[in-house]
Amino acid sequence: MTTATASVLDGNTIAAQIRAELAEEVRQLTAGGSPPGLAVVLVGEHPSSQIYVHNKIKACRELGIHSEEIAAPASITTEELLAIITRLNEREDIDGILVQLPLPEQVDVKKVLLSLAPEKDVDGFHPVNLGNLAANRPALVPCTPAGVMEILHRTHTPIAGKHAVVVGRSQVVGRPMALMLLNHDATVTICHSKTIDVSQFTRQADILVVAVGHAGLVTDSWVKPGATVIDVGINRITDPVQFRSLFAGDARREQSFKEKGFTVAGDVHPRVAEVAAAITPVPGGVGPLTIAMLMANTIKACRMRRGADRRGGR
Ligand code: NAP
Repeated sequence: MTTATASVLDGNTIAAQIRAELAEEVRQLTAGGSPPGLAVVLVGEHPSSQIYVHNKIKACRELGIHSEEIAAPASITTEELLAIITRLNEREDIDGILVQLPLPEQVDVKKVLLSLAPEKDVDGFHPVNLGNLAANRPALVPCTPAGVMEILHRTHTPIAGKHAVVVGRSQVVGRPMALMLLNHDATVTICHSKTIDVSQFTRQADILVVAVGHAGLVTDSWVKPGATVIDVGINRITDPVQFRSLFAGDARREQSFKEKGFTVAGDVHPRVAEVAAAITPVPGGVGPLTIAMLMANTIKACRMRRGADRRGGR
């Protein structure tokens, strides 16, 4: 059993704080006319997509955001999906549009994401929004890295002048994450699968964000003592050998693994808690922030569309 010394950055508590603040904002917007509105387009019957969409709609209901699920058959053509999005782009009562990914093979995903009105693109994947993020201008930005920024801000983690290392460069997490840290005056290094000796970079990080999708990739020898470590990875572990390599001696995990036959692990090895100053757990770290930030983006889109965004971005 390892001795954890790092403080745990509890995503559930931070997400609950954000939701309480957002509920108040929704009340004010609703009192001013109508509630913010989110449309979620779900194509086909992908089981995990159905769960994600269900959770997003439920979060909207809890906050008083108007939500609509638009279900389309898996056989839909690109043109048919574009027609759905055009109608949503034109609707006054819809502030945010989200197309749940992945889409079936026959659908041109790039064309679909480009067709979203940038001011309603609450996932922040449209090139206009990514361009604004790169230019450090107000934008709707991707939810998961925005959630990481909330964790850093709300735990008073200094960013300006610090060396932030981001492992992973996906459009959804790593790339926008690096831009957000840069926009907050960190010195940023981005590592990816072609980086030679990733650990030489991670060892220099004051803030280390890992979004790779490889359980336990980052071990204690990769981390500078005292660093803040943000683990974005979500990996389902079913192999008992891999389970033991990560969680041997963790009685609670062992019991749950025995009962369920799987556990969810991050990209950061639990031993990192012995060297880091602060670390996000998996589950219960970055994950809970993602839907909270989708709600925040919907409210932000509503405010921007009503000409009332005085904050210039969360
Ligand atoms: P992705 O699109 O597969 O991207 C993975 C990135 O990691 C790529 O940039 C890849 O490099 C890089 N990479 C792969 N192996 C590497 C290695 N050995 N060393 C250094 N870099 C390596 O994944 P993603 O969508 O960003 O997601 C990453 C993880 O975060 C996954 O576990 C996912 O489930 C999780 N996630 C969590 C949330 C949440 O809400 N908490 C949200 C989204 C994603 P190349 O670009 O060179 O291929």
